[in-house]
Amino acid sequence: MRTHRTDNRRNPPATATAGSHRLRRASVLALGIAVASIALAETAPVHAGTEADAIATLVGRLGLDRYKATIKGLTQFGDRRQGTDRNRAAVDWIEAQLKGYGCTNTARIRYEYVASAPRAPSGPAPAAAPAAAQGGARYRGTRAATGVNTDAMLQPYERLRALNAQPPTDGIREEVYCTKVGKTHPEEMYIVGAHMDGHGWGEAANDDGSGTALVMELARVFAAADVTTERSIRFVLWNNEETGLNGARAYVEQRAALQGKEDPAGSGRYPEPRWLGMIQHDMMMFDHGMPHADGTVAKEQRAEADVNIEFQQLAKQSDAAQRLAWAFYAANEAYATEYPASVGPHMTNTDSTPFMDLVPAISLRENERGREIGGGWDPHWHQPTDVYATFSDADFRLGLNAAQTSLGAIARLTGAFLTSLKFLPAARDKIHV
Ligand SMILES: [Zn+2]
Repeated sequence: MRTHRTDNRRNPPATATAGSHRLRRASVLALGIAVASIALAETAPVHAGTEADAIATLVGRLGLDRYKATIKGLTQFGDRRQGTDRNRAAVDWIEAQLKGYGCTNTARIRYEYVASAPRAPSGPAPAAAPAAAQGGARYRGTRAATGVNTDAMLQPYERLRALNAQPPTDGIREEVYCTKVGKTHPEEMYIVGAHMDGHGWGEAANDDGSGTALVMELARVFAAADVTTERSIRFVLWNNEETGLNGARAYVEQRAALQGKEDPAGSGRYPEPRWLGMIQHDMMMFDHGMPHADGTVAKEQRAEADVNIEFQQLAKQSDAAQRLAWAFYAANEAYATEYPASVGPHMTNTDSTPFMDLVPAISLRENERGREIGGGWDPHWHQPTDVYATFSDADFRLGLNAAQTSLGAIARLTGAFLTSLKFLPAARDKIHV
């Protein structure tokens, strides 16, 4: 990845230079003005705050190679379709990675999934507007066809056809999470999620290997022994997103009532800290622009690619969710090395949906879900071409920038601190992101 100095910290390091410039200029002015200038210089911050240093250091612990390697690791289980052995093997593998990172308190949610059960809506009904798209959005410009591929023979690689051959069966499902326990407020947490299941006869590399790897990478960084946070963070890899957000719904059903309860009493342990926010990551890499008139999409990542942060304007927690979205936007400005962010009000069809009336909930994506992904902007969506080899480094870097955005935002929101920095103040000048 490209690196550069962090000149965008909360208190820019240019302060000392500005102060000495003020002093030089003051020497040729009247005494009274000079005194005022010195006072101004002395009250200005001398160096960047340690909290900002810690966050920049944490963001610098993300890397393109690691992010790609984790996505690659997930693709060894093919499309990881729910209700199959390859899905269960992927859950086991994810749990082993989390433990290996030091996020050792892994746990699982168990629930039953029956394919014939009625499917709950995945967001607000489309508005009665011209060209209404899901989530309250409105289609614009050229659209291309979307859908879920169910034809094995459209997968040209025989190895993948064989890997994805087992069909799902109804039954018990599991999904795994681990938790960074807050030092001063273990009873409160942010939930950081992505769904590990996919479909369409590919490798679910982008949908949603890209989000799953992002959440795993954040778990790795926050689990490091020298990182503390004031509040807790739970890293969840949902199952059954593709069948209607069933894994996230099961979590809400089973655990909403447990929030903030100390168990056992007096232990200082909170199996379900009170939810402060839910942040979902779903399809992070491909922003090649609007389809052309013939329905094809550009081969290269567009120069204007961005991280789309969405909240749902019709959610009961809409106002607080919007504030959360802007906090992520600000973290992108501070910590993302390359791609900017934008904020929109039409979050939909995502594991944040079951949370959105209970707690501020947002989603991060490669594009807006309703208008753009729904309009056919990602031709690999649920298709046999959603394989690791489809994506370029420019694509992977969009996912990495989303990771930098979320890591920076979550670190700020939970009061992350790096204990090793206390003893290495000089390290401030060597920080790269
Ligand atoms: Zn999907």
